Amino acid sequence: MRVVRQNDKSRRNGVRIRGGIAALTAAAIASGCAQGGGGGHRGGAGHEAVRPTPSRQPLKAPPPGEVPDAHAKDPHSRDRHAKDPHAGDPHAKAPHPKEPHAKDPQVKKFRSAQAAHAARVAAARHWRLARVPLTPPPPPVRKPRITTRAGFEVDGHDELGLPPVFTTVPTKQRVVFLTIDDGAEKDPAFLRMMSELQVPYTAFLSDYLIKEDYGYFKRMQRDGVVLNNHTLHHPYLPALSYYRQRYEICGMQEVIERRYGKRPLLFRPPFGNYNRNTLRAAKSCGIEYVPLWNEEVFVDHWDYREWDRKIRPGDIVLSHFRGREDWKGTMPDMIRRFLNKVTAEGYAVARLEDYL
Ligand SMILES: [Zn+2]
Repeated sequence: MRVVRQNDKSRRNGVRIRGGIAALTAAAIASGCAQGGGGGHRGGAGHEAVRPTPSRQPLKAPPPGEVPDAHAKDPHSRDRHAKDPHAGDPHAKAPHPKEPHAKDPQVKKFRSAQAAHAARVAAARHWRLARVPLTPPPPPVRKPRITTRAGFEVDGHDELGLPPVFTTVPTKQRVVFLTIDDGAEKDPAFLRMMSELQVPYTAFLSDYLIKEDYGYFKRMQRDGVVLNNHTLHHPYLPALSYYRQRYEICGMQEVIERRYGKRPLLFRPPFGNYNRNTLRAAKSCGIEYVPLWNEEVFVDHWDYREWDRKIRPGDIVLSHFRGREDWKGTMPDMIRRFLNKVTAEGYAVARLEDYL
């Protein structure tokens, strides 16, 4: 039987502000604001929210307090003024033309987007990122069709209805997906960092590494991370019989279901190595997708599957739960390297499960 062996080494331009709140909101959540740059941080989320990166078209953000421009676009605003009880009353103080109507749903929406962005700005500064991570677009309503990457098929792949093996999700959106494997390092700072930055990722866990502290991954799950299958003992699967592979994969399905209440749909073979029996066994355990990766990020460098060493929209990025014992830094150091690069290249980090 053939063994499929992977390389195992280890816009927002042209956002125009026309005075509309919708445009402001979009700019606030979509612009990859550079950090630092002096001023503008203190209490001025409005400034920070629309600060463009140096290479991007400057945005003409109004100073705080000019938000009510939105009223120009509010179809009800004229009515509201007509019903103003003070209308026509010469003693009434004229309403300040710049006073925003705090109850206006659009103003509310804008302010909550502003607050969320301000929190990300603060978190990015706290975790010493070069830039604020970009906010991903909403999950696609129509999921892309996931197929096995050419050259990654096994005999009878389609005929047997085996789960697709892929390294990239077909999308034109500038998003990448972060996946983290194994489970050796259990760094509480990493959980705090990811939750404060609101950066999604997917975990592929091996029982022999997580069993010393199932609670750590429970906290991860509570933060919205989907826990997926990476076998019980992390063996080189192609060397094992079908039944032994099935034991490794189905056994891990049961551990995750028992400990975390959900049976995974995603499975990643250790080292990216599999054969037809692996995919047959995975399918029989309820696995629907076998995502590999196109890039791997370490604490001190990146590795690429593609010859041109470039990130592409929809790429799956691999990393590992590792700490100072395994590499020269911490999990937050690795995440910093990951985020600084993808943000600088205009990519947001999206949730893999949202696209499947
Ligand atoms: Zn692994």
